[in-house]
Amino acid sequence: MKKNRLSDSIWVFGDYRNYFQNRVTLQLIAKGKELAKELDKQLIAVVLGDQVHQYAMEYVAHGADVVVAGEDPGLMEYQVDTYTAVLARWVEAFKPQILLAGATSFGREFFPRLAKRLHTGLSADCVALDVEKDTGLLVQTTPSFGGELLAEVVTPDHKPQMATVHPGIFRELPHDPDAFGCIIYPEIGPLPEIRVKRMRTRPQQTHDIRLEDAAVVVAGGIGLGSKELFGMLSELADLLGGDVGATRPAVYAGWAEEERLLGQTGKNVRPKLLISVGTSGALQYTTGIQGAETIIAINRDPNAPFFKIADLGLVGDAVTVLPLLLDALRKRV
Ligand SMILES: Cc1cc2nc3c(=O)[nH]c(=O)nc-3n(C[C@H](O)[C@H](O)[C@H](O)COP(=O)(O)OP(=O)(O)OC[C@H]3O[C@@H](n4cnc5c(N)ncnc54)[C@H](O)[C@@H]3O)c2cc1C
Repeated sequence: MKKNRLSDSIWVFGDYRNYFQNRVTLQLIAKGKELAKELDKQLIAVVLGDQVHQYAMEYVAHGADVVVAGEDPGLMEYQVDTYTAVLARWVEAFKPQILLAGATSFGREFFPRLAKRLHTGLSADCVALDVEKDTGLLVQTTPSFGGELLAEVVTPDHKPQMATVHPGIFRELPHDPDAFGCIIYPEIGPLPEIRVKRMRTRPQQTHDIRLEDAAVVVAGGIGLGSKELFGMLSELADLLGGDVGATRPAVYAGWAEEERLLGQTGKNVRPKLLISVGTSGALQYTTGIQGAETIIAINRDPNAPFFKIADLGLVGDAVTVLPLLLDALRKRV
């Protein structure tokens, strides 16, 4: 068995809110484990809260070698001040090499503050992680210049090397009920005074959308020209047993809910089949669909950049092509 080394290891911060929807922690544990193997280090999941034992067990079942857990009634609710104080204390004590979190609303607020407290850098919204062969440094690939370029960032002089990663980029490991791991509960220390008072909570409106799990995704862009034409994508998705995604302009036009946004600022999907209609193929969008096994692009412009990455391209006007496609599929079911 590997030596139990908390220091010098790879840490993944456990965001367990909406556990069944938000799988980014499990995805990061899987990727972190791969990196840990390459670097001969341990993968540690860190979890804070009140009753977190069940999550700690889940993280072990999904691949964590060790879980560092902090239980305290004062940590029951996420508060950036308390979470930063505890995690900064533990990072200073245990000195992990790498510290990762999901680029969720949570990670995007918490990690920049933590990085500042630890005097280290942070690559936000990464879309890939790797290890530099000669140095063993973490290569953090992140969109830059408004998403026009992908930058590879390394942090040679400061530790830990910190990154937030977009949900849906990596695949979680299957749940293994026989997995063996160790859960430790270090001292938490005094918690800072909470400066934010919650007056009331309002549940977020949820639509039953699990785009990330859909085997088929039909995505539409602003080229569809109208909400009515965009609406045809729902029937197409239903006929194919899939779900509907959208580009940012289509969401801004009010044709689709924000939850359906694909890409750098939206969701990443990995369906077996992705059909994209009236989308040009901007990098900020294709970042979110590059994991699809087969991509079919429908665009009336034969020079649309999307055709360069699509497996199959259909040059045609969506106004004509979509009804024909629907007719053909209706006859098959
Ligand atoms: C920081 C930043 C982050 C961003 N994040 C995202 C993101 O997460 N997701 C995202 O989607 N975008 C994002 N964007 C926007 C992105 O850069 C593109 O502007 C956007 O993806 C383009 O959407 P589109 O393909 O629908 O529109 P367009 O680029 O306008 O493409 C429309 C396409 O439809 C075709 N078309 C027109 N009419 C028809 C027709 N009748 N039939 C068939 N084809 C037709 C056209 O030929 C064209 O190729 C981001 C931008 C920035 C700066």
